[in-house]
Amino acid sequence: MKSIRNEAPACCPNKCEPFDVEYWSLVRADQDPDLKDAALGGELNLVRCPECGTYFHHKGELIYFDAQAELLAFVFAKDTQRKEQQLRQRMERDYNVIKNTLLVQLKIDYPPVSVFGLDELKELLHHMEKIAAESEVIAAASAQEGFHIVRLKPSYAREHHFPLYVPVLANNQTANDYAVAASKVLKSGLKSKLLLHFKDKMSQEGALLPELA
Ligand SMILES: [Zn+2]
Repeated sequence: MKSIRNEAPACCPNKCEPFDVEYWSLVRADQDPDLKDAALGGELNLVRCPECGTYFHHKGELIYFDAQAELLAFVFAKDTQRKEQQLRQRMERDYNVIKNTLLVQLKIDYPPVSVFGLDELKELLHHMEKIAAESEVIAAASAQEGFHIVRLKPSYAREHHFPLYVPVLANNQTANDYAVAASKVLKSGLKSKLLLHFKDKMSQEGALLPELA
């Protein structure tokens, strides 16, 4: 499955004559880093009205998929937000249709997310970039303190607001062992809200082991 372009009329916000244009309807961010960069920069599916010269985002629906980050995002047009519930239902239905075919092939075992408009997708991607950067710092600080590092399952980490990498003890066995390792790295002077949150959750009574990648 590759990134896919579609052709559909674009409607200028200034109510000019609609014009046919190609836009991306499926983005394989893991295969096409240029498209990921475009989404991060807000240029994905940006079109220019030939009549008045205005730039705007094509309203075509889009699926944004990044296997490595475990992100399957349905991007709906911004002005469809009022139909949110209906669209979410459709997303669930579409998801169930592809779940047993495409998703098995791609090993997708995490739920999709939905966003409205390419600006919202951009925000989500920037947020994920920030988490990835903080996770790198956690990994480096953990290694410096002599800890081994494990990678959490990305969709699990995102759902729980955990970092992508966490330190582990040599004989790490329980959730609390994760909390102890995290606590030691935090005590070395690392400032990380993600790791602090992870430590707090792992030290709770009855905490489950984190899901590893
Ligand atoms: Zn126009």
